Amino acid sequence: MRTTAVREGDEYVVNGQKTRTTLGQHADWMFALVRTDPDAPKKQAGISFILLDMKSEGITVRPIRTIDGDAEVNEVFFDNVRVPADQLVGEENRGWDYAKFLLGNERVGVANTGQIKRWLAELKEHAQQVRLGDGSLLDDSAVAARFVDLESQLMSSELTAVRVSGGSEDGRPNPASSILKLCGSQLQQDVLELAVDISGPMAMVWDALESVPDWAARSVPTYLNYRKATIYGGSSEVQRGIVAATILGLKG
Ligand SMILES: Cc1cc2nc3c(=O)[nH]c(=O)nc-3n(C[C@H](O)[C@H](O)[C@H](O)COP(=O)(O)OP(=O)(O)OC[C@H]3O[C@@H](n4cnc5c(N)ncnc54)[C@H](O)[C@@H]3O)c2cc1C
Repeated sequence: MRTTAVREGDEYVVNGQKTRTTLGQHADWMFALVRTDPDAPKKQAGISFILLDMKSEGITVRPIRTIDGDAEVNEVFFDNVRVPADQLVGEENRGWDYAKFLLGNERVGVANTGQIKRWLAELKEHAQQVRLGDGSLLDDSAVAARFVDLESQLMSSELTAVRVSGGSEDGRPNPASSILKLCGSQLQQDVLELAVDISGPMAMVWDALESVPDWAARSVPTYLNYRKATIYGGSSEVQRGIVAATILGLKG
């Protein structure tokens, strides 16, 4: 993390770059972690948390085209952006403490439990629309077994979400949020893979045709888009590290 903020009177001057800012093209404001003490003894120290008005002079937002053909993530560049010092959140150089709390909460959101539930319910309806012999794909025992497996994993995710939201104390998020993020992001990818399989040859079509329903045409772009789920909010490897250190008490 190399973006810097240097205090000048009652302003900070921010220089650097943030890559991958989802939906930043629509934002009026952003928060950023910036280095305010480049000589801090640890990488995690000397970081501050500030709010930036996206209309400030010196901010440039450049879209990044992603594998699904969309452009929902951006690079944001800061070139001598002057930020009023009262837009610092909390204390200077304690930004990583605030960010860790925020990330714990973000991981509950990106585990996407509600979305997975909706996807699975819709997918069952779609499987019923695909004819197989006298019945539908849903009557196929291999397909039905995949639904049962995914639905039982979803139930575990829902229970973990309740455990996490009920178990944050002393300003510290419950580390089980890392288990939720790890399993929930994998589950999203497994559900979307089933969606591609159910769409079959129709998944080759990316733009809806009269003969191909919209849900089938969207299956591959959505599957590709959600490869991000095991990366953003902290990659799966990072979540495993947190689980090992904070829940299992293992030392690296
Ligand atoms: C589509 C998309 C949207 C995003 N949107 C946002 C956004 O809106 N806002 C935002 O702030 N960020 C966003 N991000 C950034 C995202 O949070 C980071 O990409 C992610 O945390 C991984 O960090 P990194 O890219 O620096 O990879 P790195 O940390 O450099 O990781 C590279 C590789 O090393 C592994 N690795 C890293 N550290 C460890 C470790 N300690 N132990 C074991 N393995 C490790 C990783 O698993 C990975 O395989 C987005 C990313 C993507 C892909």
